[in-house]
Amino acid sequence: MACPARPTVKTGTLHAGNMESIVLFGPPGAGKGTQAQRIMESTGLPQISTGDMLRASVAAGTQTGIEAKKFMDAGQLVPDEVIIALIRERLLEDDASNGVMFDGFPRTIPQAEALSRITKVSHVIAIEVPDERIVERICGRYTCGDCSAVYHDTFNPTAVEGVCDVCGSSNFKRRADDNEDTVLSRLGAYHQQTSPLADWYDNQGIFHRINGDRAIDEITEDILSALD
Ligand code: ADP
Ligand code: AMP
Repeated sequence: MACPARPTVKTGTLHAGNMESIVLFGPPGAGKGTQAQRIMESTGLPQISTGDMLRASVAAGTQTGIEAKKFMDAGQLVPDEVIIALIRERLLEDDASNGVMFDGFPRTIPQAEALSRITKVSHVIAIEVPDERIVERICGRYTCGDCSAVYHDTFNPTAVEGVCDVCGSSNFKRRADDNEDTVLSRLGAYHQQTSPLADWYDNQGIFHRINGDRAIDEITEDILSALD
């Protein structure tokens, strides 16, 4: 079977070049996506999740998706050049013109270095959750297939069973990589490749540690104070 054609490479202004962006940092399952949806409402900054973008590429069967899938299924990081190309393309969109909120990016020092050449990061919000909490969080996660609201079987279920609180849909999804084996690999990748970024950003004085092992509302409050 022939490979699908590569997407056309757009050229133009990298909108994010003139403004300041926020990075949500933390292990898989820390609550980055949950908090991003809330912070988006307060700040108006669009959420850019490289994980969501990669899953969309996999679902669309693009060359990027085909390349990324084997890494995602194994719980490993997708190569830096693939991620940086995705981000450069995404920042060409008009909604990136007043700053963005990165969720799950950057995840390596080379990604952070590439980002620093594209845009200024004003705040890195590190949501800290102990490893022993991560597996239960990830294995109980489900999302609305229509509006992407994030839920958890025990910790954050829908108010009415089977009905999305935000949009009323009953179309829920679970991620293929949200299983115990893959979570352990993803946590390993986080500790080896991503956590060194904490010092890298701390040295720049823009790193804010938030205790993520608390109620969702309390965490949102602290993040909004850190962004003030
Ligand atoms: P990430 O984007 O960092 O991978 P998510 O926002 O998807 O994490 O959250 C992972 C899971 O944990 C979801 O099922 C979510 O509902 C749940 N969750 C998020 N924040 C909390 C919290 N403070 N306490 C308990 N569960 C949470
Ligand atoms: P997430 O949705 O953030 O949990 O990411 C799901 C998977 O996508 C990860 O386990 C990686 O395989 C891949 N991924 C997402 N973002 C990145 C990134 N910034 N760098 C490398 N791989 C990524």
